[in-house]
Amino acid sequence: MKWYEREIKDVEQMTRSHFSNGLTEEEANKRLKQFGYNKLDEGEKVPAIFLFLAQFKDFMVIVLLVATLISGLLGEYIDAITIILIVLLNGVLGFIQERKAEKSLAALKELSAPQMTVLRKGEWTKVPSIEVVVGDIVKFTSGDRIGADIRIIEAKGLRIEESALTGESVPVQKTEAVLSGSDLSVGDQENMAFMGTMVTQGSGIGVIVATGMKTEMGKIAHLLQSAETLVTPLQRKLEQLGKILILVALLLTALVVVIGVYQGHDIYTMFLAGVSLAVAAIPEGLPAIVTVALALGVQRMIKRKAIVRKLPAVETLGCASVICSDKTGTLTQNKMTVTNLWSGGKTWDVSGTGYQPEGDFYHNGRKIHIDTERTLQQLLTFGALCNNARIVTNEVKEGLLGKTKLEYLIDGDPTEGALVVSAEKAGITRDLFQEEYKILEELPFDSARKMMSVIVERKKDGKRFVVTKGAPDVLLKRSEQILWEERKQPLSPQREAAVVGAIDQLASQALRTIAIAYKEIDKQFNYTSESMVEDKLTFIGLQGMIDPPRPEVKASIIECRDAGIKTIMITGDHIITAQAIAKQLNILPAHGKIMDGTTLAKMSVTDLEEVVDDIYVYARVSPEHKLKIVKALQAKGHIVAMTGDGVNDAPAIKAANIGVAMGITGTDVAKEASSLVLSDDNFATIKAAINEGRNIYDNIRKFIRYMLASNVGEILVMLFAMMLGMPLPLVAIQILWINLVTDGLPAMALGLDQAENDVMKRKPRHPMESVFARGLAWKIVSRGFMIGVVTLVAFWLTLNQNPDDLMRAQSVAFATLVMAQLIHVFDCRSEHSVFHRNPFQNIYLVFAVLSSIALMLVVMYFPPLQPVFHTVGLTIREWMLVLGMAAIPTIALAGFHIFKRK
Ligand code: ATP
Repeated sequence: MKWYEREIKDVEQMTRSHFSNGLTEEEANKRLKQFGYNKLDEGEKVPAIFLFLAQFKDFMVIVLLVATLISGLLGEYIDAITIILIVLLNGVLGFIQERKAEKSLAALKELSAPQMTVLRKGEWTKVPSIEVVVGDIVKFTSGDRIGADIRIIEAKGLRIEESALTGESVPVQKTEAVLSGSDLSVGDQENMAFMGTMVTQGSGIGVIVATGMKTEMGKIAHLLQSAETLVTPLQRKLEQLGKILILVALLLTALVVVIGVYQGHDIYTMFLAGVSLAVAAIPEGLPAIVTVALALGVQRMIKRKAIVRKLPAVETLGCASVICSDKTGTLTQNKMTVTNLWSGGKTWDVSGTGYQPEGDFYHNGRKIHIDTERTLQQLLTFGALCNNARIVTNEVKEGLLGKTKLEYLIDGDPTEGALVVSAEKAGITRDLFQEEYKILEELPFDSARKMMSVIVERKKDGKRFVVTKGAPDVLLKRSEQILWEERKQPLSPQREAAVVGAIDQLASQALRTIAIAYKEIDKQFNYTSESMVEDKLTFIGLQGMIDPPRPEVKASIIECRDAGIKTIMITGDHIITAQAIAKQLNILPAHGKIMDGTTLAKMSVTDLEEVVDDIYVYARVSPEHKLKIVKALQAKGHIVAMTGDGVNDAPAIKAANIGVAMGITGTDVAKEASSLVLSDDNFATIKAAINEGRNIYDNIRKFIRYMLASNVGEILVMLFAMMLGMPLPLVAIQILWINLVTDGLPAMALGLDQAENDVMKRKPRHPMESVFARGLAWKIVSRGFMIGVVTLVAFWLTLNQNPDDLMRAQSVAFATLVMAQLIHVFDCRSEHSVFHRNPFQNIYLVFAVLSSIALMLVVMYFPPLQPVFHTVGLTIREWMLVLGMAAIPTIALAGFHIFKRK
């Protein structure tokens, strides 16, 4: 018998589960050990040794190793061994870099791992999906991704989209009823929920019957596509560029060798020097350093509460020109407190802050007693009745002395929590109204309907009511009567105008308003659609709640504006509330426009394009319409970041250039569609991520600039020397050493550099912009040329002074080249001039430069290494020449900057 054919009691027994309490932690752990984690087998991992060996598969490295072998056979042992050591060390470094990149990427994946809500020892808790076991009772609701195979034991309006498994994209209605038929296909098993499918509506509870490879998904796991690509556009571009650079480097080195041989140099020496030069000049480390820089940047983002789910987003972040942000919870704190109430033309104020259920009611400034106000009582009772939130308390210690204080929190939606609190302030507690009413059915809140309803029975007389709460303008349209002077009266145009006036009045104080309405129904009431229930209502009144802006948001919005990024607020809230908050937050400039959801719904994307640049706030918007906004903005050439949390937000999040999901309130579906998750739901975090995104890109430019200019310098000094008929300024081993030490370490440190002061003062980068744009190519070539020339001049001067001491001149050339590069690295930190930045700010760079210098001194002064590296110790005068020459390019550049500014 299959799971779907079994009675629920049987399922409980067979899974050795306990439906009312769930499993205990110990039992779950035991099952986890016995049956393993709930995950699908992944493809084979590349063993570390292959990754290491892959470091040597480069064509030029192989040529170098062969050449070295030959030189070893010819008796040049020391040269051969040193070269092999350097190549090995280079391989180890490359291997470490790649492993680090891989590990950080794996860590990222883990961070965005899904969770499930399971019942353990009578308490609902969230656990990572991979730790659930057979027999666990799970709860799921709209927006959740199902993480195991589940037999449903309770379904409330539950619909699940199973396309991942069946290919059918229309959601299937689910039930808890036992099904018959021995061979139902997966798509027909309506009392089962399968791993990898997605809840689109309603909620349910079920028991896990299969995990991991035993699930239906596990059975087809081998058919699943492999993980998403982790290569960013920049990495792809650099890969192509790398091929061109290899060709250029090879051509130039060939030229060096040919000219050298023509000038009478020994063929074997020239060959070894040429191959070493090719190895040094080919920026084989570039892709790995880019990955490491991206991965480390991503880690910095995590510290700032932004979790990158798709690596390419890191680059796109730097191009963002518009952020479309939700209001509630992202721009505001989502800590709601009811402060004003309205019913039948009368208003009240409530005192108290936060969720602490203590406060008094006032009418026209005078404290009132709630017992005398029947409509107010009804407004508060129904607000708390049509509600899923609960007040919970938490003991917190104050200060070191440990005085404890009760902290009041809301379990559930803060908007609903505010209504529970306002009711409790009037003494209307959950126990009290549960004594009076029994809830029979619930129509959950949904952002498109903007309402929620319950069907209740009054215990004392068995009368049934629909109680609805929701956006006041929506509820007003669905009401025919209104409570006025404690009596049901027709909703005349005058009374309607009075309600609209009250809504506007509350909204203009930036209050979020919720209206409450009801109707009596008979016992036989049956419905086929929500609109049948939420219709012909009697309007009771309004509760207005404050939702204070997050304190840090205002500054972030200004910072974004300075960075050329427009912030747009999209909210389901009332247009006037939206306007009031947008003004408080500086989102809405004097010329800025607001559009409401009804107008938006009627427009086509092309219509919207015409006006989209003037609109700063969209109010009363349904999530479906967000997609239109994204498309219109993109058509205008914008790079759009769009936030969202619900199932209906997913299409817009996916379509946006940077889809941003909320970490706390976001559904799995929204998170999966997103490329960035905010673990604190905060707008300021998007700004921080953009800031990091720009910085990472800058850092990549910095080390490309450094590495390539160094390589150009290395090639040119050799090329010029050969063309001028000079001896070799550098020997093979010196070139390899420079490639290993001087090029590698500082480049890594540049990848960790802090942002320049003006990163958030520039306009967003154009997404099609080349890495070499904004003068970078010129900077690389000109600096490489200068480095080559000063090295050659230092070499030539020393050789002129000591015609018989080639090794001395080569040592000077070696030291000059190293020092010129190490000075240049500080230039690379700024797009402006070296004096724009404190050279000691990047401590890694200082350390990298100092250790490069120390290592250079070791190979120049440690006697056993001198013959290996063909070096001699230099005199003070020679060192002055080295440092003077090495500093010339930086001084020249600084002079140029001063001249330009004047
Ligand atoms: P965003 O999160 O995009 O800023 P929002 O939170 O302002 O949007 P929604 O959550 O879609 O918007 O709410 C829209 C409207 O529905 C609110 O202005 C409010 O009047 C009403 N509303 C919100 N929550 C509930 C609820 N739990 N029950 C009934 N009505 C609600």
